[in-house]
Amino acid sequence: MSITPAMQSDLVLRITTAYEQGFGHAHRDELNNPYGEGTWEYEAWDNGRETGRQRLERIEPPEPAAVPNGWKLLKDSTSAERAWTEDFSHDNGHYMNACLNCGRMFEGHKRRHVCKVCAGSGEAAPAVRIFDNTPVE
Ligand SMILES: [Zn+2]
Repeated sequence: MSITPAMQSDLVLRITTAYEQGFGHAHRDELNNPYGEGTWEYEAWDNGRETGRQRLERIEPPEPAAVPNGWKLLKDSTSAERAWTEDFSHDNGHYMNACLNCGRMFEGHKRRHVCKVCAGSGEAAPAVRIFDNTPVE
């Protein structure tokens, strides 16, 4: 039996379809190859899944870095939350200061040393150094 161009075209279509199906299921472990073993489609499906898996491994984002020992994540704050608005009307009440606790800039009287958030809770910076190496839970 000779292979006509139409048969060849049909075979190519079936193989590429099987390949794309396998590629599309690269992330699914539970799915078995739906084609008969030993067929072109079976090979193509397996090939597609393997290629898809290799590709997934390459584009899989790395695990986010854990907070290192000695560092602790704290609640972030806005400049509005850190500002001592009640100082603004006073002489020297509208200075930009660096907070001695969180290190962030805040508006307030020039004699103030900590921002309003730190004065209240001590939790203003997104991350501050701690010195006892306590692991962060
Ligand atoms: Zn502060």
